[in-house]
Amino acid sequence: MKIDVYSKETCPYCDRAKGLLKLKGAEFNEIRIDLHPELRDVMIERAGGARTVPQIFIGETHVGGCDDLFALDAQGKLDPLLNREETKMKTLHKRVIVLGSGPAGYTAAIYAARANLQPMILAGPQKGGQLTTTTEVENFPGFKDGIDGNELMNQMEAQAARFETVIAYGEVVECDLSKRPFTLKTDDTTYTCDALIIATGASARYMGLESETKYKNRGVSACATCDGFFFRGQKVAVVGGGDTALEEAGYLSQMCERVFLIHRREEFRASKAMQDRVKANPKIELVLNSVPDEVLGDDKGMTDLRVRNIKTGEKKELGVTGMFVAIGHTPNTKVFKGQLDMDGAGYLLPQGRTTKTNVPGVFVAGDVADAHYRQAITAAGMGCQAAIDTERWLGEQE
Ligand SMILES: Cc1cc2nc3c(=O)[nH]c(=O)nc-3n(C[C@H](O)[C@H](O)[C@H](O)COP(=O)(O)OP(=O)(O)OC[C@H]3O[C@@H](n4cnc5c(N)ncnc54)[C@H](O)[C@@H]3O)c2cc1C
Repeated sequence: MKIDVYSKETCPYCDRAKGLLKLKGAEFNEIRIDLHPELRDVMIERAGGARTVPQIFIGETHVGGCDDLFALDAQGKLDPLLNREETKMKTLHKRVIVLGSGPAGYTAAIYAARANLQPMILAGPQKGGQLTTTTEVENFPGFKDGIDGNELMNQMEAQAARFETVIAYGEVVECDLSKRPFTLKTDDTTYTCDALIIATGASARYMGLESETKYKNRGVSACATCDGFFFRGQKVAVVGGGDTALEEAGYLSQMCERVFLIHRREEFRASKAMQDRVKANPKIELVLNSVPDEVLGDDKGMTDLRVRNIKTGEKKELGVTGMFVAIGHTPNTKVFKGQLDMDGAGYLLPQGRTTKTNVPGVFVAGDVADAHYRQAITAAGMGCQAAIDTERWLGEQE
């Protein structure tokens, strides 16, 4: 099967597309149009007028660009096109595998790739991680006017691809960390690796109301540190009764006109000190024995929140424009249960000030090991640490 990839230098999308083909074990003919300008017109003609690189041809089929190649893969159509059916369940070995494509995963990959470790990222069920669910990120340094969450993650991905990180789709559903090389299984491939960086993140828990989903990111948020700023001078509600909820209420009270703290019970789970602080805060009003009943809104977003007292059944509207759900996060660690040390909530436990786990050669980064800060920049910072720890550990093994 003849595969042609038209490319040029400094083209992250070309790198990404080539990375996927390499991962599939497909040999291809790279045609650099910056080195051979005369072939540029040939490419445009073959590609039906397309003037962007890469342009990929598999046999007689014009696939298109990088996104088209990945879309074909996501639809399960790339393997048959590459005649790769028989290799589908084969085992692929990489020196370093990074699980997760959020800020922690991409940063780990960038550092590992620059250290010549040729890492592979398994992107998981949510490529780009949690930030792909938000529009505005205003606190990631380097973007003075803020940046769209998707755009930020695309840039991180392109930066990782620039150093020839292979980025593959796939969610690990099973793993064996009891011996080296470690084994990771996705639906259709078995991977082995000498070192593993786990950056599988955590997912915010929501209550499950239909109206909550409808107004997510348009008034409903799960992160006060991230989104509180957008509600300056307004009235907001916080839902929850643990330390996080009370902490978020305190944080929001510094910028909002009024904060309603909604809790389904009479007593809070949070520490006594935290409760005392919240109760002494004149801007925070407790709404106890109550739960959100419905998030109200219009085409533009949330306009109010109706709560229901679970003892009396009474319903009332609070006059808020934002609702912060702080009922906890679930770390994505199910597949590592019984193999890696975790706390009671399932967060992975790094050793001391390192990113090492109890299994030598397995490192952690980001929200999956951090119930406390849960920010893109802290996740990225830990991704950097994990890559450096990995590089040193691999060096010691040699
Ligand atoms: C709505 C919202 C807005 C936010 N806004 C901000 C903000 O403005 N500023 C800020 O600093 N932070 C913000 N955050 C927090 C920030 O998104 C997280 O702290 C950050 O994304 C954590 O990065 P991470 O790489 O650790 O994990 P994540 O971003 O959670 O990424 C985890 C990755 O792991 C992958 N994965 C999961 N399971 C598997 C598996 N079994 N196999 C392979 N891969 C797997 C997923 O596909 C995903 O790619 C926001 C969060 C939310 C939800």
